[in-house]
Amino acid sequence: MCIQADADSYKAFLDELFAAGLLIASGVRGVYGRGGAFEHVVDSFGRYVTQQGRHLAPEVMHFPPLLNRADYSRINHIHNFPDLMGSVHAFTGGERDHAAMLRKFEDKEDWTRDLAASDVMLIPAACYPLYPTATGRLPEAGRTVDLLAYVFRHEPSDDPARMQIFRQREYVRLGTSEQALTHRDAWLARGKEMLESVGLPVEAVVANDPFFGRGGRLAKATQREQVLKYELVVPICSTEKPTAIASCNYHLDYFGTAFDIETADGAPAHTACIGFGLERIALALFKTHGLAVAAWPQPVREILALD
Ligand code: ZN
Repeated sequence: MCIQADADSYKAFLDELFAAGLLIASGVRGVYGRGGAFEHVVDSFGRYVTQQGRHLAPEVMHFPPLLNRADYSRINHIHNFPDLMGSVHAFTGGERDHAAMLRKFEDKEDWTRDLAASDVMLIPAACYPLYPTATGRLPEAGRTVDLLAYVFRHEPSDDPARMQIFRQREYVRLGTSEQALTHRDAWLARGKEMLESVGLPVEAVVANDPFFGRGGRLAKATQREQVLKYELVVPICSTEKPTAIASCNYHLDYFGTAFDIETADGAPAHTACIGFGLERIALALFKTHGLAVAAWPQPVREILALD
């Protein structure tokens, strides 16, 4: 059992997960393979999310974990989270460049500087690839979109819940400020109920994102003052530093303005999303109910339709 927020408790739980075959080590901190029982839980929770969102009749739009680099340049992620970003680079040279790179590779020198930026960045959130596709006028009723993607955050860690690449399932609302806020607040309540129903004692807290550097202090203060983002947190390895397993975000007209998305009245659209962190939810379930799914409480197994 791990109660303290110390490195040992993270490492101990991680080692238990490896030993049980739930996660598979890759040699890189925060990058793991997933075993069958782990995926079964992720799939089951995903089905539960689908069932709970069915009344919204969402459009399903699942993107690869990549964002057009030109679209990345229209948002301020590089200002706020430069340390978390991921960029895809590729070899674009000719034969002479190839020979030079190979020499470095074989001499164990740094050959990666011979690569050039490709057209894509890795996405930091599942909803980012949606907004550039939504440019233009929204219908009166707005839009609700169901998204699922692996997202990337460069933060190597021994905390099993702090992965570098993991899945987010989202419901995004695009529309008026009222439509967006209603969505955010309804999902804050519904998300909390869903997680409680599977035995996770979550609490809703105002988020404290790790904005970068001195400039980030203002962004951090604004996020808190305007109460734009809530997180649903639960202790996994630490009761002092509980882990956010879902977040409910209101972006004001930030994406509407950046990508020229308009309401039916021609005003910049407002957007909101709920994101479920599927790996973190699975880890919280394993930590709370034990590593053997067959021994989980019957009500939890029934809600998740675990056979
Ligand atoms: Zn989102």
